[in-house]
Amino acid sequence: MMQAQNLWTTLAEQRQSHTRLIVSTVEARAAKRLKARDDEIERIRIMNWALEERLRNLFMEAQMWRDIAQSNEATANVLRGDLQRALDSQAVRGGGSGDGQEDDAESCCWGENQVPLCAEEEVGTPAVEERPATAVGRCKGCREDAAVVLLLPCRHLCVCAPCAAAAQACPACGSAKNGSVCINFS
Ligand SMILES: [Zn+2]
Ligand SMILES: [Zn+2]
Repeated sequence: MMQAQNLWTTLAEQRQSHTRLIVSTVEARAAKRLKARDDEIERIRIMNWALEERLRNLFMEAQMWRDIAQSNEATANVLRGDLQRALDSQAVRGGGSGDGQEDDAESCCWGENQVPLCAEEEVGTPAVEERPATAVGRCKGCREDAAVVLLLPCRHLCVCAPCAAAAQACPACGSAKNGSVCINFS
C-alpha cells in the first residue's frame, strides 16, 4: 500500500514538473514575442518621428519655394511694367524702327534699385536717339535669332527663347539664371 502511495506521489511530482517545464517554456516564448513586439513598436515610433520631421522639412521647403515664386512673380511684374514704359518712352522719342544692336537692352542698364528706364537715366544724352525704338538685339547665345527673352535675376535681354531655355547662366554677364521673361515687343 505504502509503495503504491509512493508511486502515485512520484508520478504526480513528475507530472507537476513536466507541467512546470511546459509553462516556463511557453512563458519564455511569450516573453520573447512580447519583447519583439515592443522593439517593433519602438522602431515604428522612431520611424514615425523621422517621417514627421521629414514632413516638417518638406513643408518648410514648399513654403520657401512658394515665397521665391511669389517674389519672382513680383519681379516679373515690375519688369513688365518697366519694359512697357521703356518701350513707350523710346517710341515717343525715336519713333522709328529698324534693326537693332545687341547692346541696346544692356546699355539701358536697369539698375539694382529697379530704376529701369534709360529715358530717366539718360535724359539729355544722345544715346537713346541713336537707337531705334523697337530694336531687338541678337541672341548672345546662338548669335542668330532675336534676343527676346529677359533673364532673371540679372535682367539682361540677350537671348532667344531656345537659348534661354537651355541657358544655366546669362551669356552677357555670367550670373546664374533663376528665371526668364519672354518679352512681347508688339
Ligand atoms: Zn539663341
Ligand atoms: Zn546678365
